[in-house]
Amino acid sequence: MESLDQITHLILDMDGVLYRGSEPMPRLGELFAFLRERAIPFMLVTNNATKTPEERSKQLAAMGAQVLPSEILTSGQGAARYLLRQYPAGTKVHVFGMPSLRRALAEEGFVLADEDVKVVVASVDRDLNFEKVKVASRLIRKGALFVATNLDPNIPSEEGLVPGTGAMVAMLAAASGVSPIYIGKPEPILYEIAMAQMAAPLATTAAVGDRVMTDIVGGKRAGLTTICVLSGVSDRAEAEAAGTDFIFEDIGHLLDAWRAALSAKAS
Ligand SMILES: [Mg+2]
Repeated sequence: MESLDQITHLILDMDGVLYRGSEPMPRLGELFAFLRERAIPFMLVTNNATKTPEERSKQLAAMGAQVLPSEILTSGQGAARYLLRQYPAGTKVHVFGMPSLRRALAEEGFVLADEDVKVVVASVDRDLNFEKVKVASRLIRKGALFVATNLDPNIPSEEGLVPGTGAMVAMLAAASGVSPIYIGKPEPILYEIAMAQMAAPLATTAAVGDRVMTDIVGGKRAGLTTICVLSGVSDRAEAEAAGTDFIFEDIGHLLDAWRAALSAKAS
C-alpha cells in the first residue's frame, strides 16, 4: 500500500495504541468518530485476555470511544475459536488464567475442568499461586495439549510494564517440560479471524500496533500493511528495522496523516 487513503479496513491493537493502562491516548474519540464517518470497518485485536470484549467496550466508552463488543477480539476468544477447529464443543479444557478467559472458552461450548482434560489454555493470572501452577503443569505432563493465549512477557500499565502471559507460561513450560502452541500475535491467527469477520481484502487492510515483535511481525506474517505507533512499547529504530510500512508518534498523528492523504487525493 502506497498511501493511507487506500485503507478500507483497519485492525487496531489496544494497549499502548488506544490507551496506556487506564489513561486514554489523546484524540481517541476523534479516531473512532473518523472511522464511523468514513464507514471504515475496524476490529480491535488484542493479545490481552484479562478482560472480556464487553468489559473492554465499557472501558473504551468511559474514555469517549464507541466500540461494540463484537468489534473486539481477544486472544482468549481466538484460542477458543482455534480449538474448535480440532475439538468438538463439550471437550474438557483446563483454564489457567483470569475469569475472562474461562468465559471465552465456556461461550464456545467447552467444558471447564481440572482433571481428564484434552487441553490446557494458559494466560496471565493475577491471582497466581503454587497450587494453580502445579495442577496445570501436571495436566500438561499427562498429555493435555498446551495452548498459550500469547507470548508477551509483560503488559504496559500506568505503573510501567507488569508481568504478562509470557512470563507465566514460561513457568508452566519449565515445570511441565513442554512448549505451548501460541495463539496471539505474532502468530497470524487473530488477524485472520478478524479479517474473516469483516470480509476484509488483504490488499487494503492495515494493522496498527505499538509492539513490533507482536503487532508488526504478526501483521507482516498475515500479509497486511503495517502501521506502528510509538506511544507504547517499541521505538522508531525497532519499527524501522522491522520494515514497518508507516510509523507515527501516536494515533493523533496517524489521523492527521490519513486526513491529509484523503484531501490530497480529493483535490
Ligand atoms: Mg499493544
